[in-house]
Amino acid sequence: MSSLKEYREKRDFRVSPELAGLASKEQSKRSPSRIYVVQKHQASRLHYDFRLEHNGVLLSWAVPKGPSLDPSVKRLAIQVEDHPLEYAQFEGVIPDGQYGAGAVMVWDIGTWRPEQDDVADAIKKGELKFTLRGKKLRGSWVLVRTPGYGRNARNSWLLIKHGDRYASKRDITVAQPKSVLTGRVLADITRDGSGDVTKAATGDPPHRHR
Ligand code: MN
Repeated sequence: MSSLKEYREKRDFRVSPELAGLASKEQSKRSPSRIYVVQKHQASRLHYDFRLEHNGVLLSWAVPKGPSLDPSVKRLAIQVEDHPLEYAQFEGVIPDGQYGAGAVMVWDIGTWRPEQDDVADAIKKGELKFTLRGKKLRGSWVLVRTPGYGRNARNSWLLIKHGDRYASKRDITVAQPKSVLTGRVLADITRDGSGDVTKAATGDPPHRHR
């Protein structure tokens, strides 16, 4: 069974500009390096979707506060359904009434490398160490499973930066709020698509409002 089943069931591709996804084997032959992407998503609640390519799909976590470069800061990351690889390039507006309605920005993109030999085993054990090579996020990180509550009891993780030369106290989400593909903020993306620009702008840093 395709691990994209849940992804596809949640969406109506006749209405949403998102992609249904190719068969994963077909796609993975085309991409020898592992994709890493963070998509800033102004859905009912603002969050950052953190995605790592593994076995032909994008493993995905929703990070409400976004990544932090400070190793003393642990950011909650809720694992969500796998996404197709092509989703990494998706930037636009998911229409009202659709799953995840709102603006999606490619906030960071690049490649990643696991620091463990067996990624599936690391995920099963609840501790995945990896190195990012993005435009904004770089160096060593870890995702570690944590006891969660309610419906997130079994899919709660923490995203933590390891101490290295890319660690910093600087708030990267505020310092670098724009799309790495188009230079747009959420309000720009919404204005170019369809939807509520004022609502989208609430996800942009205050000095970016216009
Ligand atoms: Mn999302």
